[in-house]
Amino acid sequence: MSDSTKEQNTAANLVAVVTGGGRGIGRAVCLELASRGYSVVVNYSHSSDAADEVVSQIKAQGSEAIAVKADVSDHDEAKALIDAAIEHFGHIDVLVNNAGITRDNLMMRMSSEDFESVVKVNLEGTFNCMKHVARPMLKQRKGAIVNIASVVGVIGNAGQANYAASKAGIIGMTKSAARELASRNIRVNAVAPGFIDTSMTQVLSDKAKEALQSQILLGRLGQPEDIAKAVAFLAGEEASYITGQVICVDGGIAI
Ligand code: NAP
Repeated sequence: MSDSTKEQNTAANLVAVVTGGGRGIGRAVCLELASRGYSVVVNYSHSSDAADEVVSQIKAQGSEAIAVKADVSDHDEAKALIDAAIEHFGHIDVLVNNAGITRDNLMMRMSSEDFESVVKVNLEGTFNCMKHVARPMLKQRKGAIVNIASVVGVIGNAGQANYAASKAGIIGMTKSAARELASRNIRVNAVAPGFIDTSMTQVLSDKAKEALQSQILLGRLGQPEDIAKAVAFLAGEEASYITGQVICVDGGIAI
């Protein structure tokens, strides 16, 4: 990102909220947005040390950041997160719904609890944050929301019926929100990552990783930064005529 874009964004006092911003893809998104001049609200639910480390790194780069604890799957905690961001920074320009979990199992063995918890965090968490940020964004007649879906929500995956349902739901919800909010200059898009090198995929066996790798046209797992760059693009002015879209950042898995 050029220095002049960073200076312009800093001067415009742009503020981004990133859910699950302490680790993995969320961490990379926080650092990428900060490098582009955004002040960043780093949300976490458990990893407070990791979130504090991201805040320190952003401050060391000369941008502003705070860490805010909230379980986004809880309606009231999600509201408190949005309220805390506005209280501290005055407004929110960008919301990135990144928080997510997996509880994989074959459908026949999947418990109701594992189905519900994944849908609750991934889908309802995204809904909660979008719902609460909508009012302030509508008032200011400006905003961008980027939801992190998954290629699994586009093409499915054995052993991930709960996760695929939550991510396909995010895609439908992204398009619905884009239709609801476009007239007030609020854009809503999704990024659908493929297999990215984070703790979510590090638990896979080498055999599973090799099998996955064979489906990736570009022949490698993605890095969190690959996703962060697409998120920052959709969040920013360069994407001002893009809404309701899903960009697969997946090395070519989903074509
Ligand atoms: P990760 O390393 O496991 O990180 C998950 C993040 O979500 C953590 O920061 C975690 O924060 C946060 N989180 C979980 N539950 C939360 C809750 N209830 N409230 C607030 N934050 C919560 O996973 P990742 O790979 O970076 O995944 C990030 C997103 O990308 C997820 O939506 C995931 O589904 C999606 N994605 C990942 C891949 C991949 O291959 N890695 C592929 C497609 C899509 P705490 O530690 O504080 O709980």
